[in-house]
Amino acid sequence: MKKQYLIVLIFAGLLTIFNACQKGTAYKALIVTGQNNHNWKSSSPILQQVLEQTGLFTAEIAKSPEKGGDMNTFNPDFSKYSVIVIDYNGDSWSEKTKTAFVDYVNNGGGVVVYHAGDNTFPEWKEYNLMIGLGGWGDRNEKDGPYMYYRHDSLIVDSSAGRGGNHGKRHEFEIKARNTEHPIIKGLPQRWIHGADELYAQLRGPGKNMEILASAYSDTAKGGTGRDEPLLMALSYGKGRIFHTALGHADEDGGPALECVGFITTFQRGAEWAASGKVTQKVPYDFPTMTGSSLRPDFKELTLEGDLAKIAQYDITKSTKYFSDLQSRIRYEAKTPADFQIFEKQMIKVLESADASDDGKKLLIREISWMGSELSIPVLQELAKREQLKDVAEFALARLQPAK
Ligand code: ZN
Repeated sequence: MKKQYLIVLIFAGLLTIFNACQKGTAYKALIVTGQNNHNWKSSSPILQQVLEQTGLFTAEIAKSPEKGGDMNTFNPDFSKYSVIVIDYNGDSWSEKTKTAFVDYVNNGGGVVVYHAGDNTFPEWKEYNLMIGLGGWGDRNEKDGPYMYYRHDSLIVDSSAGRGGNHGKRHEFEIKARNTEHPIIKGLPQRWIHGADELYAQLRGPGKNMEILASAYSDTAKGGTGRDEPLLMALSYGKGRIFHTALGHADEDGGPALECVGFITTFQRGAEWAASGKVTQKVPYDFPTMTGSSLRPDFKELTLEGDLAKIAQYDITKSTKYFSDLQSRIRYEAKTPADFQIFEKQMIKVLESADASDDGKKLLIREISWMGSELSIPVLQELAKREQLKDVAEFALARLQPAK
């Protein structure tokens, strides 16, 4: 009897692992929201989508009662999750819920503190140790020093004054401060972030905290004239906390949440908080110093999606998907074999009777520099057609070895 029971247990265990592998998801995330001075009804589903896109998470949303409601009814079972995302700024949790949360983190649970998540619970000591730095909620010198950079030195400043401030929303440069930390290892040293509030004058205990990135808070935009910490990694007990002060949400998301820099650091920070490591690749559309990079629907464009749009292209339409294909090839393809993976997909569009001539022209131009002998048969076919003759012959001249 006992042995049979054990076999059933082992089988059930294997089935669970198998299912997790099938979905490719290893971690469960819980986004805690329901009260915020921000538009949590828009931000929480976006954060959920962004986490699930990684293929690493399934994400659920836990809504608290409305402001002034009975907080005793709010008791999420934190222990079921690998990471808790705080998209919450509101009434204090019950003592029972606070204790459960502290136990969860102490036992190794992961936390992501998102934007105004560092405004909440000014009176809760343990929470302030977890977030490191916070603002608003009458935070001041009693809550800990200001921390910021002057040139490249970290300043710990105990002077009196309010915690939390921001100037006008604008695009700003983010500067990596700890390039060896898994969350930002491999990202550019500096990049342009989509228009956002630049949180400043944060203050708090700042214990067991590594500042991963900061940004200069420009006085011309109503800022402090200091380099303010915006991405932080902390530990509390056995738990790991990723704190992102970025990501102010508009009704429909807006540029701060659409920013690939926000999305990528959020995804990487959540994986690190859940597991202590980061396995995600840096996406090819990560912003650089040449400008911000936005994903209007929060999703990374796919090669298949780009090619389907290019196949319907005519000159009245935007070349966005073609530009995306070009960046993808330049970023991802390193060896001739890599280029041929793209080339084979592009050839399929060239061979398709449904694809437009304008779309084919774009692809042939691209193939003329990155293609190989694989494209020669289809180009020879297309060269027989009046509309594509010139561009196909141009590509053939570049791809065929000189006689
Ligand atoms: Zn905000």
